Amino acid sequence: MRPTGNRNFTSASRAQATADARAALDLGCAAIRAWPQGGLWNGFLGRRGGVSRGPYQSLNLSHFCGDDPADVDANWRRLQSCFPGTPFVLVNQVHGNAIHVVSDRDAAMADSNARPAADGIVTAARGVILGILTADCVPVLLVDRAAGVVGALHAGWRGVIAGIAHKGVRAMTSLGARPDRIEAAMGPAIGRCCFEVDIELARRFEREMGGARAHIRIASPHKAFIDLRGLLHDQLIDAEVESRAINPAAICTRCSSDGFFSRRAAGGAVTGLQLSFIGLPE
Ligand SMILES: [Zn+2]
Repeated sequence: MRPTGNRNFTSASRAQATADARAALDLGCAAIRAWPQGGLWNGFLGRRGGVSRGPYQSLNLSHFCGDDPADVDANWRRLQSCFPGTPFVLVNQVHGNAIHVVSDRDAAMADSNARPAADGIVTAARGVILGILTADCVPVLLVDRAAGVVGALHAGWRGVIAGIAHKGVRAMTSLGARPDRIEAAMGPAIGRCCFEVDIELARRFEREMGGARAHIRIASPHKAFIDLRGLLHDQLIDAEVESRAINPAAICTRCSSDGFFSRRAAGGAVTGLQLSFIGLPE
């Protein structure tokens, strides 16, 4: 995975190429694309390229973290201008493992305020973009191109321990996807370098997730470091996604807080949220 500028886009259709180039230009080339080839809208946005100020500087896309609503609206207009007429579907993320299945009808109502409580979104509908907001938690994007099914997951430690990746893959298979055809990409998130937790939480992972010990580094009698992306990788393998089809981003949001929102880097204070998105063009 690499940061992409507009010069890197090789899109299948002229319309897609235009949209991609505009996305790169309008958003300051800040999007990381797991799948830079055409035919699939996708990106892990960072914090650059928007108008928000202070701790929300600058591409905050959440209305629920204390930012000026007018600035958030301006950021959304900037993003949506890259995908004219395409609805974005978001959920009310609650650190659980519920998966919202988006129908064509839901997509048509995407601009309403009724966001279901869920931490995953899947759809077989085309012409709709699924979005997940994060600031240290792991955004996971999924696609089975043959089945035309996509998914987006929000995976913090609570979601990981609740098996969100497994549930996300299962929800996709209920729409016709096959795990051995699913490609997965994990976006910028707090890395194993920085995700320090109390030892009790590390022990809980060891008790509740088989194989978790391989992704935990005990640092002291009281603290440990957890590799959330490593745990998610194992969950995807358990769900029969093939290892070679999993793209784990190496970027740590806390280490790279100039480019990405990180709650830890902000010392737990308010911060903005960055968007990860995926969708199949019509
Ligand atoms: Zn780090």
